Amino acid sequence: MLKSELTLDSLSKGIINRDNTLLAKAITLIESTKPTDHEKAEQLINLILKKTGNSIRIGITGSPGVGKSTFIDSFGSFLTKLDKRIAVLTVDPTSTISSGSILGDKTRMERLGQNRNVYIRTSPSRGNLGGVALKTREAILLCEAAGYEMILIETIGVGQSEILIRSMVDVLILLITPAGGDELQGMKKGSVEIADLILINKSDGELETIAQTTQKNYENALHLLNSPTEGWTPKVLSISSIEDKGIPEVWQSITEYLKIVKSTGYFDKRRELQRLDWFHKVLDDEIMKLILTNTEIRKLIKATEKQIVNDIESPYTAVKKIINKLKF
Ligand code: GDP
Repeated sequence: MLKSELTLDSLSKGIINRDNTLLAKAITLIESTKPTDHEKAEQLINLILKKTGNSIRIGITGSPGVGKSTFIDSFGSFLTKLDKRIAVLTVDPTSTISSGSILGDKTRMERLGQNRNVYIRTSPSRGNLGGVALKTREAILLCEAAGYEMILIETIGVGQSEILIRSMVDVLILLITPAGGDELQGMKKGSVEIADLILINKSDGELETIAQTTQKNYENALHLLNSPTEGWTPKVLSISSIEDKGIPEVWQSITEYLKIVKSTGYFDKRRELQRLDWFHKVLDDEIMKLILTNTEIRKLIKATEKQIVNDIESPYTAVKKIINKLKF
């Protein structure tokens, strides 16, 4: 897929010179499942690695319909007024299950889409969620090499996607809608526990008073939880993305947050842990690939599955036999 006249060297230089067409090509390359592209993608990441890390990585999660894209449109437009260059990436767990995608539509961010300091890229639609997450991590690096200072990573709060996002961002924002009653959305799923900032969106019109109650409920609930980030107490704010209300306060909270985590050293520590996490995920992936490309081992695994189904052997004994075969 990479034209032969375009060398990896010129591709990496193009990205560093902020050429968005080449950035898009590079992201397509890392998302490719072709083994030859895999090799090129790996070399490309090595070429740009020294130019990465200089952004703030912000994760944005919440149920479908809560207003994630409207928020990103509003918050992103606010950031561009501060002369920030912004990249928006999406991790869409639904696209890995069905061929369609809930987050795939760029027109959902109308204001941002027209700004030349903004780059929007939707989720790769192939592979399992873990694989998609690995590619998102690499896409973050490519966007950083292309000089984007704020990387907004959007994901629907379902299943494991928010946990994966947490492992690649500096700050995680959870969006909630105003709701009467005591039921706290996201509490059962654990998304509240991993958020640094909870935004009660749609705090406008008739929903404004309900939003205030919702905000109080979350503030109370947060007292009972540990913070996901050392040195920081998670905050709850009421906002309206549609009316651009509360958006400067969101930025102010993020700025405060960054000041704290940078001064305690936790910002760097988390980034280090995330790089290690990346390494271990790639290691796991590659080891599995190595094992599964060995025909003899694949046959042995298939045969062992029958033993397991029929309760002939425990998985431990069965796996031990496979591991023994792997010993070089
Ligand atoms: P997403 O699925 O989480 O990305 O949600 P969208 O951004 O697509 O928004 C879903 C619906 O909520 C749309 O009809 C938006 O217009 C509406 N919406 C988003 N933000 C607000 C808000 O702040 N106030 C109100 N009243 N509606 C909003």
